[in-house]
Formats: sequence, structure tokens, C-alpha cells
Amino acid sequence: MRSRLPSYEMEAPRDLRAALELLAREPGAWKPFAGGTDLMVLLEAGKLAHRRFLSIWKFPELGGIEVAPEHVTIGALTTYTEIRRHEILAREFPLLCRAAAETGGIATQNRGTLGGNIANASPAADSPPALLVYDAELELVSTSGSRTIPYREFHTGYKQMKLRNDELIRCIRLPRAPAQLASKQYYRKVGTRRAQAISKVCFAAMARMEDGHMADVRIALGSVAPTVLRAAETEKLLRGERLAPSVLRAAQAALAREVAPIDDMRSTAAYRRRVAQNLLAEFFELLAS
Ligand SMILES: Cc1cc2nc3c(=O)[nH]c(=O)nc-3n(C[C@H](O)[C@H](O)[C@H](O)COP(=O)(O)OP(=O)(O)OC[C@H]3O[C@@H](n4cnc5c(N)ncnc54)[C@H](O)[C@@H]3O)c2cc1C
Repeated sequence: MRSRLPSYEMEAPRDLRAALELLAREPGAWKPFAGGTDLMVLLEAGKLAHRRFLSIWKFPELGGIEVAPEHVTIGALTTYTEIRRHEILAREFPLLCRAAAETGGIATQNRGTLGGNIANASPAADSPPALLVYDAELELVSTSGSRTIPYREFHTGYKQMKLRNDELIRCIRLPRAPAQLASKQYYRKVGTRRAQAISKVCFAAMARMEDGHMADVRIALGSVAPTVLRAAETEKLLRGERLAPSVLRAAQAALAREVAPIDDMRSTAAYRRRVAQNLLAEFFELLAS
């Protein structure tokens, strides 16, 4: 059963400054509305307390993909379709493009934004594991200026994040590292079916092989904890090691300790933990190939 769409108010300020002033004047009263692909579902299902929305869709300061020698900067309003089609992102940050390609269907990819995916703060979202692997930074803006925060520190608990209610995410910055091009990169989303499914486990990883030893190992997962997770202990255990079966077994045990999945309508904690371990084994196979 679906409720009827309730009545709501939508402000469309003329520019970013006016939007930030409105957020600062009435903190918490206005909900930023980007592509609306999360918000409209919640609103229609009657699960959204908010009835006042602030459209940020048309602000050029929040859009576009800029490439500089040190970074690629992705505006918060960048859609999955724009990410998928970007040549440099496809070459240097393939995990993000894979995540974009596996997010919803074409309509969702045309309208859903990277900033919205981050601020919606679902632990099952598909692009955050890729952003964690790439050591992304977020730039947040408000009337008092802007601040930058490592994405790794952004989510503090289930649906909790370091975003004040007078702030917007302006952009996501990905550091460009030439060594990354020599890394093997792995992404796998496990859901009930291949499209239009929420992840049961999402796994993003990369590492470089140097003389038979793993270097710069990075592993991140979604749907296995209250927030998306960088598997720091497992990474530490793998760094500098060979691709031996005993190393894999130890890393799988470490990963099982590091994740904290739950039973819910989509899956069980035991299944998620086992799948996470299996995906680690698949990542090993890629490194060995
Ligand atoms: C059919 C369908 C399939 C989907 N499939 C997937 C999937 O496979 N994987 C997946 O990860 N997601 C999926 N989603 C969820 C959704 O599409 C994504 O989370 C999307 O990225 C949200 O972006 P948006 O611009 O539509 O966000 P909105 O709905 O506009 O906003 C989402 C939240 O973010 C806040 N927000 C948005 N932009 C900003 C900003 N710049 N600064 C601060 N706060 C902001 C809003 O206030 C709101 O709380 C799906 C949704 C639908 C409807």
C-alpha cells in the first residue's frame, strides 16, 4: 500500500548564496533536494518528516567534473550517467564508474547524484566503498565559508554524518596518483538480482603487486556495518604479504571480525559475513592473475 503524495513546499532560490542563507536562517527547516531519487520515494511512502524542500538542482557551483594535475573534483550534483561517461574517471577511477553503472536503472542514473548518495548516508549505498578506496575528500559549504573533510571521517554512525544542517556538500575530490594506474582494482555488488537491487554486500578494493608482495592495499565495504567501512585491520594484515592461502585465511578471519552486519529483510548477518570473505578471495584471484 502506498500513501498519496502529501502536500509539500519547494523553494528554488535564485543562487547558491541565497540557498545557503535560507539554510542558515532556519537551520533544519529546509531539506536540500538534489535529484530527489531518495527523497521522492520516502515522501511518497509517508516516511519523511520534512515537508519543506530546497531545490539545489540548478546551481552550477555544485555541478561539473574538473580535472587538475593533483585531483579530479566531482560536483555534488554530478549524476551517475555523467560519471559513467567521463573518460578520465573511467581510466583512473574505474571503481566509481562501476558503482555508477550498477546503481539503479538508467532513469535513476540520469537523475541521482553522487552528493545525494553520500548525504542520504545509507550503509548500503554503492558508490561510497569506491570513494573510500580512493581516499576521497568532501568539500562542505555554508554561509561561513567552506571546509574540507576526509570522506573516511564523514559517516559517524547509522545515518549520522559530519554535515551541519546549514551546510551543503559542494564537491567530492579524488586525489590522482600515478601508482594507482599500476594497481589492480576490484568492485563487486552482490544483490538479489543484477539490476535495481539494493546491495547485500558491496566490495571495492585495490592493490599493487611489487615483487610478489601486496602494496598499497585498500579495501572498503557496504552493507556490512552501520556505515560504509574501510577495512583497515584487514588491509594492515595484507600489506607487504605474498598471495599465499594462509595469508588469505588470516585476512578472511580479520575481515569477519571487522565487519558488523545485521539480519534484515534483504539478507542475514551470517550470509553477509561469508560473502564478504568470498569476495576477498575473489580479489586475491584478481591480484594473482
Ligand atoms: C529505483 C531506484 C533505484 C536505486 N538504486 C540504487 C542503487 O542501486 N544503489 C544506490 O546506492 N542507490 C540507489 N538508489 C538511491 C538513490 O538513487 C541514490 O542514493 C542517489 O544518489 C540519490 O541522489 P539524489 O540526488 O537523487 O538525492 P536526493 O533524493 O535529492 O537527496 C538524498 C539526500 O541527500 C541530501 N542531499 C542531496 N544533495 C545534497 C548536497 N549536495 N548537500 C547536502 N545534502 C544533500 C538530501 O537532503 C537528502 O537527505 C536508488 C533509488 C531509486 C529510486
